[in-house]
Order: sequence, then structure tokens, then C-alpha cells
Amino acid sequence: MVFALFAVAALALGLALRDLVPDLAALKALAEAAATRRAEHPLLAAFAAFSVYVAVTALSLPLASLMTLAIGALFGLFWGTVIVSFASTLGATLAFLTARFLLRDAVTARLGTRAKALAEGFARDGAFYLFSLRLIPAVPFFAINLGMGLTTIPLRSFYLVSQIGMLAGTLVYVNAGTQLGRLDSLSGILSPELVLSFTLLGLFPWIARMFLNRFKSRRVYARWQKPARFDRNLIVIGAGAAGLVSAYIGAAVKARVTLIEGHRMGGDCLNYGCVPSKALIRSAKLAAQIRHADHYGLAAAAPEFSFKRVMARVHEVIAEVAPHDSVERYSGLGVEVLEGRAKLIDPWTVEITDAAGAVQRLTTRAIILATGAAPFVPPLPGIETVGYLTSDTLWERLAGLDHAPKRLVVLGGGPIGCELAQSFARLGSEVTQIEMAPRILIREDDEVSALAKVALEADGVRVLTGHKALACGVSDGEKWIEVEANGASFRIGFDEMIAAVGRSPRLTGYGLEELGIPVNRVITTNDYLETLYPNIFAAGDVAGPYQFTHTAAHQAWFASVNALFGRFWRFKVDYRVIPWATFTDPEVARVGLNEQEARERGIAHEVTRFDIAELDRAIADGTARGFVKVLTVPGRDRILGVTIVGEHAGDLLSEFVLAMKHGLGLNKLLGTIHTYPTLAEANKYAAGEWKRAHVNPRVMRWLERFHTWQRGGSR
Ligand SMILES: Cc1cc2nc3c(=O)[nH]c(=O)nc-3n(C[C@H](O)[C@H](O)[C@H](O)COP(=O)(O)OP(=O)(O)OC[C@H]3O[C@@H](n4cnc5c(N)ncnc54)[C@H](O)[C@@H]3O)c2cc1C
Repeated sequence: MVFALFAVAALALGLALRDLVPDLAALKALAEAAATRRAEHPLLAAFAAFSVYVAVTALSLPLASLMTLAIGALFGLFWGTVIVSFASTLGATLAFLTARFLLRDAVTARLGTRAKALAEGFARDGAFYLFSLRLIPAVPFFAINLGMGLTTIPLRSFYLVSQIGMLAGTLVYVNAGTQLGRLDSLSGILSPELVLSFTLLGLFPWIARMFLNRFKSRRVYARWQKPARFDRNLIVIGAGAAGLVSAYIGAAVKARVTLIEGHRMGGDCLNYGCVPSKALIRSAKLAAQIRHADHYGLAAAAPEFSFKRVMARVHEVIAEVAPHDSVERYSGLGVEVLEGRAKLIDPWTVEITDAAGAVQRLTTRAIILATGAAPFVPPLPGIETVGYLTSDTLWERLAGLDHAPKRLVVLGGGPIGCELAQSFARLGSEVTQIEMAPRILIREDDEVSALAKVALEADGVRVLTGHKALACGVSDGEKWIEVEANGASFRIGFDEMIAAVGRSPRLTGYGLEELGIPVNRVITTNDYLETLYPNIFAAGDVAGPYQFTHTAAHQAWFASVNALFGRFWRFKVDYRVIPWATFTDPEVARVGLNEQEARERGIAHEVTRFDIAELDRAIADGTARGFVKVLTVPGRDRILGVTIVGEHAGDLLSEFVLAMKHGLGLNKLLGTIHTYPTLAEANKYAAGEWKRAHVNPRVMRWLERFHTWQRGGSR
């Protein structure tokens, strides 16, 4: 099929060339003159071709492909291949040496992230990495030569691997050149030989990739015995967001899928994360609104409530959402759900141990690891003695309390720490939040962190940024944590402490070590979410780089489709437009670049702001604080990133996510009707601000003159 497509493409190219090249006779005459010279002085001609080719490749000029075709036409398949093979390798080696010994800094600066990627590839696969690049030039030729000069690959290996790796490609190109050389007339462009040669040229990367993949597979699977038949098409380990979506997609396309969950269906999001935290946030917000009811013309009151009831509601919400992720629902969708701990036995066999200790093994063609992450507990001296809560434990452990903990320490100033600190403060705890970094929500812009801090403090949270936790302990029956700031340390007493300093992917206890699957804080995967073994994939928190439910679900699509259909076509996971939100009050939502990242990465940008204090609906709602900040390409309306701080910022962001995903600029947003009065109008007004800053002054002057003229010339 692919072959046929290429043949048609080559034919079409031939037809196009036939129309485009008006004077083949002149070209032919030129080629004949060159051929005569070559016949008269064969050695000199070969030497000249060789030297020019070396110079072209050493200087990284983009002429190598054309020259290869020409040399093929002039010297034929054998000598053409000999000349190009040695000349290209020598030229590449000269470029390599230049990068290594003469222009190291300049090359490093010029190649930028490419140099880093090449170094990582070489560190991972050694000389085989260079071989695969030579076979399939996924990186431009000049970049391979120069970038490899910055690695530690020995000169000899570079030369040999380059020469061997480029040989097949050289042969295919030179062969196409020889066919071009035989062209007598324009109708010859359609000759079967020429069409075949160019078809081969087009197909070469496919064939090379197939060869490489097969070779790599043989290497990684060498020590395992592949089953002759498989029980399943797909086994998914972990029934959180990533696992559920993967299994769902598998079943939807009629694969035989088994989903294995060792703890609770729905994973962290349903049981310990998004769902309970958002339920708690809602109760806490209502408490705050009652407290500040006078802002709305009512009498302010101290909210009366039982904390136990609030927590009971949290569990009711979990229970209400749980059927969406339940065994029953997924069984109904055609997924076989097994409850038990899964372990990889080999690349195709998974062992499942259920709660009663019964063990079974299943073989499968593909596996998706969706094992998630668990709260990271900082190794503070005394932390185990004083005891602590995490997002895994707090929902159960605090469920029986009549009142929220009186004095609560929240360790961590990230999204989870901020959401919990504000909620507990609103529900009556005296909260101290401890953050080592100079500000909370450190990934966001300074002004976002500042606004969030003001909001948390307004709710009574004592926000201690730049404070390092040193140790915990109990003195006279009172729990304390010692913190240090500006060289001085002091103790803070507390009743409960929540550790919210990050979440570590689950990487142990289910066979990664035994199979030698590399990990580096997350499971190492390639662009297709494949692990070391191309039939084992990872998705969600365990794969990173993001830790969100929606990114887990997004990756699940790529992992499951690649797992089931990757032998025909694979999809690179697309991280171009990733939104997220922190559900503090006001919410903080972002997609794409913020100012801080644009500066760090040297990306030229313009900033447009709209202040939500100006928004009618926000004023009416008593939520007139925050902003919409849009980064655009200078002079253009293309959106690079958006940060929104405000009521329902997470929802408002969706319009920008859609715009970025589909390449819609601010002009398009401005031209879209937004219902009045809604918070969503803030997005349109931000686009309006951008437009105002980009009106053409010359056009405005002309318009002014036009209107003056319309009035009869008076000022
Ligand atoms: C307090 C809190 C609030 C959050 N709020 C948000 C939010 O508002 N928005 C958002 O997008 N994200 C939020 N998150 C993050 C979100 O919960 C995670 O990103 C998401 O759950 C990741 O899904 P996952 O499928 O990768 O992993 P998980 O949901 O962790 O699922 C992994 C599952 O694998 C199972 N498992 C592990 N090993 C095995 C094994 N060997 N055998 C069988 N089963 C196994 C586990 O039991 C678990 O159920 C929050 C997280 C927390 C803690």
C-alpha cells in the first residue's frame, strides 16, 4: 500500500518535472560535458568530486543530497557510492572535530536544546544512537556531526559508525542519481526505473525504521521467552484516570482488555484528590461567604456547622461520583476488571494477587502502567514520632472530628497545600503554611503568588514563605515543628500537620526493577509513551511530566492507541496546550507560557492584561478581583499563554485552551459574541485590550482626516 502511494507520488513528481524543466537538452549537454571530462581524466574528476563533497559536508552546506544525485549520475552506482560514502564520512568527521576542539561553545550555543537531546540520546544508547541517526536522519545532518562532537564518543567510533550507518542511504540516493543520469528525454522521467528509484528513495526511511525497530526489539527482548499466544490484547495496571481511560478506549475498539486495581477504583483523583478536595473547598467557601454575608447586603454571621458533617458530605460526594469509575460500569463497557495487586513477570506476563492471596497469571500483547503517585513525606527528623496527615489519610482520619483541627500546619506552598490551607482556615483551623521557596505557587508569575498569598492571609492563613522545616517533635505533650528563616530558627506548635510537599510516582514493587525498566523520578518513556519495552507503556502521574487528571486521561489515549495499533502507526503524545488550575479562592488557571517562563526561555512576547475589577458581572457578584493576562507573539495576535486569576478562572480558561489548540488568535476571540453579563466576557475584554494596543496609528490619522472631511473640514 505504502509502496503504491510512493510510486504514485514519484510518478506525479515526474509529471510535474516534465512541465517544469523547459530545457532538458541544455541540462543534458551540461551533463554530457561533465561526463566527457570524467572520461578524459577519471582520477582527477573523482578527486574533484570527492574534495567538493568533503568541503560541503564539513562546512555543513545544505547541498549534500543534490551532490549525491549528481555524483551518482556522473560516476555510476559503484564508484558514486564509494566517493560519496568516504567523502560524506570524512566531511562529517571534520565537522565533528571542529565542534569538539575549535568551536565547542559556539556549537553548544547554536544547537541549543538539540545538543542536549543528542547528548541524552548518546548517554542512553551509546554509539547505537549515532547509528540509528545515520540510518534515519531524524536530526539534520550538520547537527548530528556537530552535536556528536560535544559528546564523549571516540573519534574512531564516530567515523566507523557514520560510514556504516550512512551506507544504505547513500546507495539509495546514488542509485536515484544514476537513473537521472540515464535520462534522454522528458518522457524518460516516467520510466519505470526512475519511478522505482525515487519510490525507493521515499520509502527508505520507512524501511530503515522498520529494520531499526526490529533490531532494537531483538536487543531488549533477548532474555525473555515470548508466548506463542496471548490471553489479552491489553492489560492496564491501575484504575485511576490514566488506567480507566486506557481500558475504556481499549474496550471501545473491541480489544480484550483487563484492568487491574490494587486498592480503590478511581485512583487518587476520586478517593483522595480532586473530588474530596473540591467538595471540601465548596463547604469552606460557603462558610467564608456566610462570614462575609455583609458584603452582599445580608447580616454577617459566624457559620455554625459540624465539621463531622462537612467531612461526611465529602464522603457522600465521593460515593456519588464513584459509580462513574466502578467495577460495574467498566465491566458493562466490556472491560474485565480484576481487583488485586499486579506485578510484571516478563514483558508479556502479569501476575495478579487478590486480597485473599489467590494468584493468577495472564499473558498480553501490550501493557499500560498507570500506577499513579503517592504523597511524598519529607524526611524530617521526628516526623514519624509526631505523626502527620497526607492527602491519602486526612479524609478518613479527620472524618470523625466535630471541629476542624485547632492548630494546623500545612507543609508545602504548591496547589494542594494552598487549597487545603485556605479550606481548613475557612472551616475554623488556625493554619500555618510553611514553604521553603520564596513564594507560594512558585510555578506561577510573581504577581499570581502575591495575589494568592493576600487571599490566603485574608482568610487567616499564616503564610511563611522562605521558611525551611528542620525537625518535628513533642515537648510536654505538645507537637511542634522547627523552622528556619534568615538564619534564625523557631518552633510552631500544632495539633495536626498535613504534608503536601509533592507526590512521588509509584515505581517499586510491581516488577519495574526485575524487568530493568529505566526510571528517572518517573518511568522513562519516549514520545509514544513506550518504556524500554515497546509493548509496555506508561501514562498518568507515573509517567509525568504533569500530575493532573486531565493530562493522565490525555496520555491514556496515546498509550492505548499506540499499544493496540502501534505496529501500523504510532502517535507522539502532544503536550503543546496543557491547561491547569489551582482551586483556591480566587482560582488560578494557566495554559501555555507565563511571563516567568517566557523570560527564562528567551521567548519574545507581548503582555496584555485585563483587570477583573472592571468586569460588570464580577462587580455584581462581589468577586471583582484578579486579572486575565495573555502573552502573544510580538505584533501578532497568536496566543503563547494565558494566566487567569479570579472567580471560576479554571472554567474561563477553556476558551483560551480551545483558541490555542486550534490556532485562533485574539482577533477571533474579539469577534465572538460573549453573553452579557458573564465572567467569560473578561476573555473578550482582554482581547479588546490587545486590539487597542495594536491599532495602526497611520490608519487612525487617516480616519480622523476622513471624518473631519465628512464634517465639511471643521476641526
Ligand atoms: C489533594 C489532591 C488534589 C488534586 N486535585 C487535582 C485537581 O483539581 N485537578 C487535577 O487535574 N488533578 C488533581 N490532582 C492530581 C490527580 O489526582 C492525579 O494527577 C491523578 O489522580 C493521576 O491519575 P493516575 O491515573 O495517573 O494515578 P492514580 O489516580 O494515582 O491511580 C493509580 C492507581 O494505580 C493503582 N496501583 C498502583 N500500583 C498498582 C499495582 N501494582 N497493582 C494494581 N494497582 C496498582 C493505585 O491503587 C491507584 O488506584 C489532585 C491530587 C491530590 C492528591
